Amino acid sequence: MDQLQTAADLIELQACPICGSRTSSSFESLHDGGRVVSYLLCGSCAAVYQSPRMTVEALDSYYKREYVEQHQRAGGVTEKELRIQAGRARNLTRLLQSRVISVDRHLDIGSSTGSLMVAVAEAYGSAGTGVEPAEIYRSYGLARGLHVVPDLGELDGNPFDLITMAHVLEHLPDPVQYLCELRDRWLTSDGAILIEVPNLFGHPSLELPHLFGFSSSTLRYVLGRAGYEVVRVKRHGSPRSQLIGLYLTAIVRPRGAGGSAPSRKPDSKNVRIRRRFGMIWHRLATRIAPGWAWLPLPELEVDP
Ligand SMILES: [Zn+2]
Repeated sequence: MDQLQTAADLIELQACPICGSRTSSSFESLHDGGRVVSYLLCGSCAAVYQSPRMTVEALDSYYKREYVEQHQRAGGVTEKELRIQAGRARNLTRLLQSRVISVDRHLDIGSSTGSLMVAVAEAYGSAGTGVEPAEIYRSYGLARGLHVVPDLGELDGNPFDLITMAHVLEHLPDPVQYLCELRDRWLTSDGAILIEVPNLFGHPSLELPHLFGFSSSTLRYVLGRAGYEVVRVKRHGSPRSQLIGLYLTAIVRPRGAGGSAPSRKPDSKNVRIRRRFGMIWHRLATRIAPGWAWLPLPELEVDP
């Protein structure tokens, strides 16, 4: 039996990891990685969170094992992921340019193959630093001449004026605390953070390593609780779809003394129905207009 399936590696959450409420109801269960993965819906703030879930230690060994297996299966970084990452990097950089005028120091957390670091550096002339725990991606980034370290602890502590986190927040056990730490330790007081997550109302989204499923209102609420002012949240399918709102991208800044109050707790009433309609649309669009629902893989503009 897989050692990760033993009860000792799992914790049942007694309270919502976002707002601390003990009121919850079951949301969805699915099979992934040979286990049943269950999610709860917080009755107070509408967060959708995995419980029971792996302990921090079990998550750590899960990722280590998963990356090694992925590497062995694919024989390295695949062209498909490079093309998706290149398309995503171009899209996120365009979005940034609509709200962020200049960047000197960019930190990309979960930098993977480094495509976003390259795109941001080209757009702003900034110096990029990547944090990437998986060795396979880190060495790929290093081979591209990028500055990539395995964790934040390796950095000298100088703050950044842009931090990006694409498809990272849903993996973190305590997103509010992590975002607070970024604000207090790693972001300049006038800096910006860009975050992209799968959209609970447009993307299947729930899978073993995803500890949360975010909607636009729960994402806004998490960001508000962590002391940020939301500049923009965009729902979109880029670079995969023109019809399905697969992703949510937020641009935020630290909330100053005179900033607006954090957003109110989202209502948990319509979460189930919006999830159901979102998944019906996902399937319907795929069936009736597959060419629009799923775009060809983006081109690699430059030689990776
Ligand atoms: Zn809650």
